[in-house]
Amino acid sequence: MRDGKRFLVAANWKMNKTVAEALDFAGKFAKPRAPRVEAVVCPPFTALHALSVKLKGSGVSLGGQNVFYEDSGTFTGEVSPLMLKEMCSYVIVGHSERRSRLGETDAAVARKLAKALEHGLRPILCVGETQEEKEAGKGKDVVSGQLRAALSGLAKGSGDGLEIAYEPLWAISKGAGDQKTQTATPEDAQKMHAFIRGVISGMLGGAPGRGIRILYGGSVKADNVAGFAAMPDVDGVLVGGASLDPEAFSGIIRNSDSAFSPAAPHKK
Ligand code: PEP
Repeated sequence: MRDGKRFLVAANWKMNKTVAEALDFAGKFAKPRAPRVEAVVCPPFTALHALSVKLKGSGVSLGGQNVFYEDSGTFTGEVSPLMLKEMCSYVIVGHSERRSRLGETDAAVARKLAKALEHGLRPILCVGETQEEKEAGKGKDVVSGQLRAALSGLAKGSGDGLEIAYEPLWAISKGAGDQKTQTATPEDAQKMHAFIRGVISGMLGGAPGRGIRILYGGSVKADNVAGFAAMPDVDGVLVGGASLDPEAFSGIIRNSDSAFSPAAPHKK
C-alpha cells in the first residue's frame, strides 16, 4: 500500500450466519488497535440491522453484499440503496459468485455501481478471471472488460467512494473442506493491481487512478495477509472464509496493521 491511505479489511460473510450467530460473532470480536486499518463487515441483509446496533462505536463499518439498481418499486426480493444506507456505508457489487452462479450481467453490475455511488454508498466492485481464462492467457482482458463495463457510466475525474476488489476465481476458497491448492502470490496480485490501476487511470484520470483502493481477495488469512499488504498496489483485502471466525478476523486486521510497522513484525 502506498502512503496516505488506510488499508481496508472487508469481511464477506456470504450466505452464512443467522442473526443470533452474527450477534455471537460481534460479542466475541474486539477490533485490535490498528490505526492504519479500516475494518468492514458485510453480513447477510438479515443481520445488518442487529449488527448496526451492536457494532455502534466499535470502529467497524458495515456493508451489504448486493444492492438493486432502483430506489423503490415492484421488485420483489430486492434491496434498494436507500434501505442499505440506513445501516451501512459499503456494498459489494458484482461478486464473482453473483456473476457466475446467479446470472448477474456486466450491465446489471454497472447500474448497481452507479446507483450505489449516487446514494453515497461505497461500492466494492469485484473483478477477476476464472482458471480457464487465466490458463488461456486472457486474465487481463477479462478484468479490463469487467472494469470498462462497470465504470463506463462514470465521468472523467469521478470515482470518489469507489473501491475495487481483484478476486481471481481460481484463488477464492470454495467453503468448508476445500482442498484447492491454487493460491495467488502477493506478486500475482501486485501485477494485476498495477494493471487495474492503469485501466482506471485511463478511464477516470490519474487522480482517481492513484486514489482508488484496490483490494485483493482469494483465501486471505492472518498468516498470509502481511505479504499482500506489503505490495505497493494492494490497498486492502476482501476476506471470505477466514472472516467468519472472530479471532481469525482480528488476526487479519492486526497483521495488516503491523505490516506497515517494521518495528512490530506480524504475528499469527
Ligand atoms: C470472496 O469470495 O470474496 C473471498 C475472498 O473468499 P475466500 O476468502 O474464502 O477465498
